[in-house]
Amino acid sequence: MGEPRVDQVGPAKVVGRLAPSPTGRMHLGNIYACLAAWLGVRSQGSCGVLRLRIEDIDTPRVVKDAGRWIMDDLAWLGLDWDGEVVYQSQRADAYSQALKLLESQQLIGGQPLVYPCFCSRADIRAASAPNEGDGFIVYPGTCRGLSHRIVDERLARGQRHSLRIAVPDQPDESDAICCFDDLIFGPQSFNLPRQVGDVVVQRSDGLVSYQLAVTVDDLAMGVNQIVRGRDLLRSTAIQMWIRNHLQPQAPRVQYAHLPLIDGVDGRRMSKRFGSPDLGSLRREGWTARQVLGVCGWLLGLLDRPRPVSVQELLDGFTWNMLAADHKDRKLDLSKLEVSGAKPNL
Ligand code: GLU
Repeated sequence: MGEPRVDQVGPAKVVGRLAPSPTGRMHLGNIYACLAAWLGVRSQGSCGVLRLRIEDIDTPRVVKDAGRWIMDDLAWLGLDWDGEVVYQSQRADAYSQALKLLESQQLIGGQPLVYPCFCSRADIRAASAPNEGDGFIVYPGTCRGLSHRIVDERLARGQRHSLRIAVPDQPDESDAICCFDDLIFGPQSFNLPRQVGDVVVQRSDGLVSYQLAVTVDDLAMGVNQIVRGRDLLRSTAIQMWIRNHLQPQAPRVQYAHLPLIDGVDGRRMSKRFGSPDLGSLRREGWTARQVLGVCGWLLGLLDRPRPVSVQELLDGFTWNMLAADHKDRKLDLSKLEVSGAKPNL
């Protein structure tokens, strides 16, 4: 594994992270997640450390200047972080060392832990039954059983391929089940072969995947509290599997997955769907206290949106307050406006 680029902290600390992707300006859903991560760490006083990692690994999707906007917006909201900012784009060496370490391992039974996959997205879609209606497709394992001869032949021809990490192939093997206790969603259990499958660790364009990059970074940065949307619950299972192969003795991580925020159209808040971002809200005259009030309310910390500071939200913060209601939220900004919540929130 690559040496951590950030200073080590003692074992008694809670080390959290803000991990925004600079694919655009942050929207309310991103801020809501950053606020929860900030509260989780800052509620620990001097025993909490919060890192900032700019997840700019997916270079084709990175928007110029978005990293700077994100830092400016976090500072404007009063969501501070500790130590140097870590940029995934500068950690290629750590990722390739991690990949080598995984490539040197095998599953029980001799299956290489990492194997090349020559399937296109269309091949995979055609060969898979959609899983649980959330669009996540469990890789059907097409390339897992290819003979050495075929693999060598295709590699020699320079055929485009990704690299996948193998999970146990028998659903009843003892290590096929990944369990963790989520601070918000409670006990979780994923069957790796049935519900997750062999995920990509290096994409066919040569970039390391999100799953590998975050696992390597969280280990290197000593992160032991991860806060993010519940759409990543399943990713947690695969990241725990990867983590276990990179550093079996690594300290355990506390996970807190948050309910998702939908817009009025029922679609998840996302940069892709043009959800209101901090750029437009700030231009419309929203104050930091108003934005925090809406996010604090979405987290279940306030019974209605009202202007607050981060310090006020911190008073008496516990994860139980968030765990009380983990249904997804629907946010209708125009209603907040109509009810006078904005701009006189
Ligand atoms: N960069 C991801 C995002 O902005 C966060 C991923 C994670 O928390 O692991 O959604």
